[in-house]
This record gives sequence, structure tokens and C-alpha cells, in this order.
Amino acid sequence: MSMTLTFLGTCSGTEPMPGRHHCSFTVEHDGGLYWFDAGECCSYTAHLAGLDLPATQAVFISHTHMDHIGGLPNLLWTLRKLTTISKPSAERLAGRTIPVVIPRLDVWDGILAVLAGTEGGFRTDFKLQPERARDGIAFDRNGFRVTALHNLHLGVPDDGASWESYSFRIDAGGRSVVFSGDVRGLADFAALIPGCDLLLMETGHHGVANVCRELRDSGMTFGRLGFTHHGREILDDPQAALAAAQAVLGDHVFIADDGMQVHL
Ligand SMILES: [Zn+2]
Repeated sequence: MSMTLTFLGTCSGTEPMPGRHHCSFTVEHDGGLYWFDAGECCSYTAHLAGLDLPATQAVFISHTHMDHIGGLPNLLWTLRKLTTISKPSAERLAGRTIPVVIPRLDVWDGILAVLAGTEGGFRTDFKLQPERARDGIAFDRNGFRVTALHNLHLGVPDDGASWESYSFRIDAGGRSVVFSGDVRGLADFAALIPGCDLLLMETGHHGVANVCRELRDSGMTFGRLGFTHHGREILDDPQAALAAAQAVLGDHVFIADDGMQVHL
């Protein structure tokens, strides 16, 4: 198995919802654990699901809205906590550097300030390496490559300013996953899609059937389509939304739920 995805949260930035948390998923590959967005409770859900948190290799944040980073300080805090309660975890993380790819380093500084106020001043034997997201290869190690592409969710930056929202493509073991992040439309990140095995598309800002029709009519090749970051359409009636999607794309499409795993 090349990659295993686990959806930790599948909700867009809503008020609290039964059975769904804000956006986050992990990918396991070759003994490593990789995080994509870090909505509320992501480390809680991952740990209780049996995911191997000390195997964390990198964290990728699409943009710094709360439904994508609300769980990030707690995820990092949990990594440290595991090193304080478990010698094997401490030994595995000691000396390691974990990149955190994030579009806004000022927000990162705020997260560090929060962590510095926690137990032990958040001193760790592992290092966190913030890296400002930019277009191109964001990570390429141990056969796991992540390519970032800015999108229009947060508009076009002023001259000299940086893009603030990104989509990602993951390539590992001959398989590929594309994650929209939050986007203005499919056109934002169409360059990442062709040939991917799994396309994860947000529906917090988009109609399910419209996305399916646009994809079908685009002629782009992709394996499966998974909806996540759900908006009201799916939250209100997931069965009806799935039926509308499958009427266009058949069983190539699914609606992600918290805790769902996909093997690629
Ligand atoms: Zn969002």
C-alpha cells in the first residue's frame, strides 16, 4: 500500500457540528506521517484512531483560517506531550526537524507564542522548522513529494505581498493525491489535477453537482473524487448530495466522513 489517508475532520468553518470536526487529514507513507491542515481536535482524533504521532514528518497548512489551523498548536503540544510520557516516543523524536509549511509566518509566530506559554515553555528535543508556503515543491524526502500552488481563495495579494492560500499535490510510491484546500474554483488548481489518483475537493464554497459537472466537462483525468470541508449542502443532507454527485460521476465520487480511511 502506497498511501493511507485518514480524514480527521471533514467540516468547513461552521459552528460545532455533531460527528464532524474542522478540516484535517493525514497521509501515512513508508512509516512516516504527514499532516494536511490542522483543524480543531486533529491530534485528539488521530491519537485515538491509533495513528503514530511520533512518526510525524511534516505539516502542511493550506491557509491560516481557523477551520484549518485551530488544532495546530494542540497538535504540536501533543507531540511534545508524547515525548514526556513515553521514552520510546522521546527517542524517536529527539534531534528530528519537522517542517511546518504555512502561508503566513506572522501567524506561525503567534502559534509559537501560545506554545511558549505552555508547560516547560514548550522546550522540545525536536525542532519545528517553519517554511513559508510558495509555489513549487514544498517537500521531497523519503519518496514523499508535496507540490504547492497558490489559489484565489484569499484573493490576489498586493504588490510584493505573498499568496495566502494554497492547494497541494502529493506524489508518493507512484500514487498521487490532490487537495484543493479552499479555492475560488477548480480553475485555481487545475494544473495539479491531471492524472491524480484521488482528488479531494472542498465543498464549503461550491455546489456538489456543479463541481462534478465541471470536472466531467473539463476532460481532465483523475481516479476518484472525494468531497471534504463540507458546507451546508452536504451537512444538511449527505445522502442527497451524494446522489446528485453520483448522477454525474457515478461511483468515482464519495463524501468523506471523519475517521474514514482511503488506501491508495
Ligand atoms: Zn475553510
